[in-house]
Amino acid sequence: MIVDRQGRRFRNLRISLTSACNYACTYCVPNGKRLVAAQDELSAEAMARGVAYLIEAAGIERLRITGGEPLVSPKLEAFMTAVGQMGLEDISLTTNGQLLAKKLPLLVNAGIRRLNVSLDTLDASAFRGIARGGDLATVLDGMNEASAAGMKIKVNMVPLRGQNLDQVMPLLDYCLERGYELRFIELMRMGHLAKDSNAFLQQFVSLQQLLSLIGERYEYLQADAPVDATAVRYEIPGQGHFGVIANESVPFCRTCSRLRLSSTGWLHGCLSSSNRHYIGDLLDKPRHQALPALQRLLVKALGDKQEVAFSGGATVMKIIGG
Ligand code: SAM
Repeated sequence: MIVDRQGRRFRNLRISLTSACNYACTYCVPNGKRLVAAQDELSAEAMARGVAYLIEAAGIERLRITGGEPLVSPKLEAFMTAVGQMGLEDISLTTNGQLLAKKLPLLVNAGIRRLNVSLDTLDASAFRGIARGGDLATVLDGMNEASAAGMKIKVNMVPLRGQNLDQVMPLLDYCLERGYELRFIELMRMGHLAKDSNAFLQQFVSLQQLLSLIGERYEYLQADAPVDATAVRYEIPGQGHFGVIANESVPFCRTCSRLRLSSTGWLHGCLSSSNRHYIGDLLDKPRHQALPALQRLLVKALGDKQEVAFSGGATVMKIIGG
């Protein structure tokens, strides 16, 4: 097993199935252009082989399928069928929910039981302004159907000053009423926001600001979370839980166990590092040749992790997977 001086190792793999997305969120793609799939994306079979090799070489236990938007990818079914047979502890998926109702039978059949759905507002016009694609009612219906089918749902919201702060309480109430767990994600200095500090600071909302807002209405207690969890979790007694992924306020680099594989075959050990390591060529090789080379790259990828805190990254989230 590859372990660093801080005792960290890779347990959680995030795969960006495609960089294509049917949204163009303001904080993710500044020019408003929806991303299409890269020319050189790996096939479903190569990606699944990548997962199998990474389970062996790094000790991956949990897989999250993300993107881009994973539900737009024609590779989804073949990839999920293959990884479903690998004995992973957990397979989950992050989606914007636009195609959720349509793809639900496929997800249920593939054994997916946990979904993260990104939703930044319940206001249809603000939704169009932030996502620049899709339709709010379709997302809400999709979550409803997924929940009725027994899926556990977490809702991801990125609070943005001047755009959706008025939605913190409505979204929290909406989620508490339905048994969804709301996760606020502090805005991250990724892509254009890594270069433009002013744009970042103008929109950034901190953990403390969120807690004071929520504290005006609800009493909350800090709740348990796994050691390598990225979210600080809270319980509102008798009502439910919410969490905050507080990259800036409570950095979690010291316990980070995440590894990312892009749709074009690049391994990323850290969102905050511009280093990446190409494994696409190893995926055509037999196991005995691929594994030693992969292990050497994994040592480098683990070395890319920050010691203490996230400091921003030039990569666009849609390319690397959120
Ligand atoms: N399309 C899927 C979705 O919408 O959930 C998966 C990919 S998306 C890049 C994953 C998550 O990253 C979303 O919840 C999105 O809000 C979040 N995200 C993207 N850019 C971000 C940023 N700069 N700071 C914080 N979260 C960001």
